Amino acid sequence: MIYHSTRDKNNTYTSKEAILKGLCEDGGLFVSDDILNSKIDMEAVIKLSYNEIVFEVFKTLLPDYSDAELKDCIEHAYKGKFETDDIAPLTPIGENYLCELYHGPTCAFKDVALCMLPQLMAKANNGKKVMILTATSGDTGKAALAGFKDAENIGITVFYPHEKVSHTQYLQMATSEGGNVFVAAVRGNFDDCQTGVKQIFNEYTDKYEKEYGVFLSSANSINVGRLVPQIIYYIDSYKKLLEAGRISFGDEIDFCVPTGNFGDVLAGYYAKLLGLPVRKLIVASNENKVLFDFFESGVYDRNRDFILTSSPSMDILISSNLERLIYHIAGDDSDKTKELMESLTGKGVYEISDEMKDKLSEFYGAYSTEDETFDKIASLYDSCGYIIDTHTAVAANAYDSYVAETGDQKKNVIASTASPYKFLRAVLKSIDAKYDKMDDFELIDELNKLSGVDIPNAIEEIRTAPVRHTKVCEVSEMKQTVAQFLGM
Ligand SMILES: *Cc1c(COP(=O)(O)O)cnc(C)c1O
Repeated sequence: MIYHSTRDKNNTYTSKEAILKGLCEDGGLFVSDDILNSKIDMEAVIKLSYNEIVFEVFKTLLPDYSDAELKDCIEHAYKGKFETDDIAPLTPIGENYLCELYHGPTCAFKDVALCMLPQLMAKANNGKKVMILTATSGDTGKAALAGFKDAENIGITVFYPHEKVSHTQYLQMATSEGGNVFVAAVRGNFDDCQTGVKQIFNEYTDKYEKEYGVFLSSANSINVGRLVPQIIYYIDSYKKLLEAGRISFGDEIDFCVPTGNFGDVLAGYYAKLLGLPVRKLIVASNENKVLFDFFESGVYDRNRDFILTSSPSMDILISSNLERLIYHIAGDDSDKTKELMESLTGKGVYEISDEMKDKLSEFYGAYSTEDETFDKIASLYDSCGYIIDTHTAVAANAYDSYVAETGDQKKNVIASTASPYKFLRAVLKSIDAKYDKMDDFELIDELNKLSGVDIPNAIEEIRTAPVRHTKVCEVSEMKQTVAQFLGM
């Protein structure tokens, strides 16, 4: 399995190099053409345990890691870090199944990948010093800070949009411990943070490596080491439906995924390419419905207002990982991908050909308004006493519109990407307006009473942890901030 840029097929990289670099120098993302003909023996693999499935998938997609290295990564990634024995429990709710992806150390689905990435990176850096730069809309930040905390030879800097993350997310990041972790709030939105980080990579990667011996890398969802661990829970969900007798092997199922940067749902697509019987991938958006419009029209147009919603991890107008899908549907054509991405950077818009559009048949775009999202939280609570967070609610509602439009009766799994404890205020307000008068810590106890679900450690901790990170910078100061953190 050879990797190269989505914008240039000529320079090739091993999976270790791809994971260490994160992003390609030309601004493209690492892809492999081999994924299209790398089937794994699904019927055999779905009989294995979660960690054994990780091993089989990694062996296929990251072949330059030795078996011993992979086993060591897997051994250390999850053990003792999740609050449930199961990494991704599958819970039946009404006619649906929710894959609860938020039982990791920071209550975010990103933990699943970010517990693994530092392991994979530590096997790839050959003792070199690495500084991870990460832009976050909220959840990635804490999950990355926790994943990389005190990692040997690896430092981490997280940029998040100032005052545009939930109070819980803010406290989670601002109270982070670890001698190697740095956090800064940026006066701008998530796209500003992401663009700023990409610029630092483009301008400074070589300079820092030459002058300071520090290798810049990324923990964002564009990293192959983030993408690959996410494939597993699609296979694991299928396995659980099979074990529960809800499907027979070979039956196709649907997944509905609350989407921002398109990493999670792309992992579902890769699971399908590897041989998992998946029919539809329903891409759920909030009111920032740039992806919905793209799947409707074939036009990706980021020229629109950025809307702040109650599902901030999906408030994104540039879904970076979509570039990988564009590359594949262009027939693995890096020139075409480069042309489209340059149009996105220059004009903020691109349009795919009809031929490319025809290759999107397994995707379905749907979206939810804020009111629909709140109503979904309330109606689900009323009907079964189960409380979901705002991101999951966007997906649950989007799935309803998909069924209303298509009449699809296939078994469906909704990716439940955050604990309701992380988006307390919006969640409880949806159920009863009276909660809006209470402070955040009171709300934690109210949610506990209402849902009967234990307060996760990650939430309990921030009630008392001291704030350690107070840096706020302008978008134009992000570079100096990194230099300062590096002690230059
Ligand atoms: C990151 C995130 C998403 C979006 O995932 P992508 O891989 O960026 O599409 C959805 N929900 C939550 C809670 C998240 O943290």
